[in-house]
Amino acid sequence: MNNPLRVLIWNEYRHEKRNETVRAIYPQGIHGAIAEGFAGATDVIVKTATLDEPEQGLSEQAVASTDVLVWWGHTAHREVQDAVVDRVQKRVLEGMGLVVLHSGHFSRIFKRLMGTNCSLMWRDENEKQRIWTIEPGHPIAAGLPEHFELDHEEMYGERFDVPPPDEVVFLGWFQGGEVFRTGCCWQRGHGRVFYFQPGHETYPTYHNANVLKVIANAVRWAAPRVMLPDALRNVPALEPLSQTR
Ligand code: ZN
Repeated sequence: MNNPLRVLIWNEYRHEKRNETVRAIYPQGIHGAIAEGFAGATDVIVKTATLDEPEQGLSEQAVASTDVLVWWGHTAHREVQDAVVDRVQKRVLEGMGLVVLHSGHFSRIFKRLMGTNCSLMWRDENEKQRIWTIEPGHPIAAGLPEHFELDHEEMYGERFDVPPPDEVVFLGWFQGGEVFRTGCCWQRGHGRVFYFQPGHETYPTYHNANVLKVIANAVRWAAPRVMLPDALRNVPALEPLSQTR
């Protein structure tokens, strides 16, 4: 049996402390609700970390012992330190998986890895979202229906200013008329990155079984295939070069 996948669910964890509505929906924090989605799984070891912990929950040791990092942030993106962003980026380029959720589209690490503004249209009016599974054969779509609905979500609309994804697995439609590339895959270095749009803090999105299934699938899809430190190498020729010189 393979070693269990080491998953770290990182959450900014500020709204839950300050806002009673959010705390009522997520008494254990958004990270706690996402971790619940892995309850009973034997192929993963799930840990959680939050911004206000020492070294922002992402020490050298914590990052080095993570195979897949899940990221939720919103109000404190700017507080995430350069050293943390550098450390996570380096680890992704070496092979770690990264699953970025909802408002994490504006996190420093996601913007760093995308190299674009990562902006979008938004409106928080508590509207219905329909999510379409447009690549049913993709591992992240395993077990998901052709479409499913969230009765309460924040609208995120196109254009989403990201580089063209390698794959778009889910498309979102909103009651107000907009559409969005809801589930997108990229490779950066040796690492896999997945962005999944739903998850506004004032709605119970991370208690939805389909949403948790997408995150669980994405974590397993993003598992490292290799873990290779970067190296700029000057190397000898494999064949003799003397005749051609
Ligand atoms: Zn939001």
